[in-house]
Amino acid sequence: MSSLSTSESVLVKELFVSSKTPVQELKNMLAVFDFDQTIVDGNSDIVAIDLISPTNLVPNRRDFPNNWTQYMQRVFDIIKSIEIPPEQIIDVVSLMRPNDGMPKLMRALYENNVDIIVASDSNSLFIYNWLKHNKLSDIVSCIYTNPATISDSVIKIEPYAVQNKCNWCTTNMCKGAIMEEHALNTNKKYDKILYFGDGQNDLCPVLKLTKNDIAFPRLGYILENLLKSHITPAKVIPWCTGEYIYEFLKSSKLISA
Ligand SMILES: [Mg+2]
Ligand SMILES: [Zn+2]
Repeated sequence: MSSLSTSESVLVKELFVSSKTPVQELKNMLAVFDFDQTIVDGNSDIVAIDLISPTNLVPNRRDFPNNWTQYMQRVFDIIKSIEIPPEQIIDVVSLMRPNDGMPKLMRALYENNVDIIVASDSNSLFIYNWLKHNKLSDIVSCIYTNPATISDSVIKIEPYAVQNKCNWCTTNMCKGAIMEEHALNTNKKYDKILYFGDGQNDLCPVLKLTKNDIAFPRLGYILENLLKSHITPAKVIPWCTGEYIYEFLKSSKLISA
């Protein structure tokens, strides 16, 4: 019996694969989460700033135009000067409450083999410790944020990047580039990206989504408003709770219960 030619064997293989493929085809999906006001209900940097007392010691934002990480470094230096240890700042941030249903949503995505990444202009100490405290650190595959460490009893923060390619974004972070580079650097080809955010710096990645993707702007926040005047090819689903998103994904058959 003669063996199959290469093209025939490919055909046989494809037939075999398609006959075994379940009706609901499994997709490679990526979920990108912003942190402040998306995963957590509040802003972690503001929580840190609120530790400064008396309040007239709070540095003026206008002294640091377009440089959030330098501003936050000044905040951390002042917190040290009033003798609040960095561990206390991290503890207060770790106790921030999640938006309703967000942990449930993140766990459901993970259990449905969706890759989860976080892209945030906060910092690595805040995000990692919050996720750890909320038993979510194992389900997030990458955290893209400003790196921070504790050195000499003060939090030291560095900009995530120095970029000037993207005019939508600040010099220290283009979340659109982060999302694209993550997709390029992983071996998977994502069929669908789900983007969850609320802020101005979530607009760039949302405009880079395709018609296969879904943008989830938080209802009543800046991103949702910006998407009224900026067109993304993605489907746009405003949300108010993680529970709502969970139910939407379940009824759209993108995740199972
Ligand atoms: Mg945010
Ligand atoms: Zn950008």
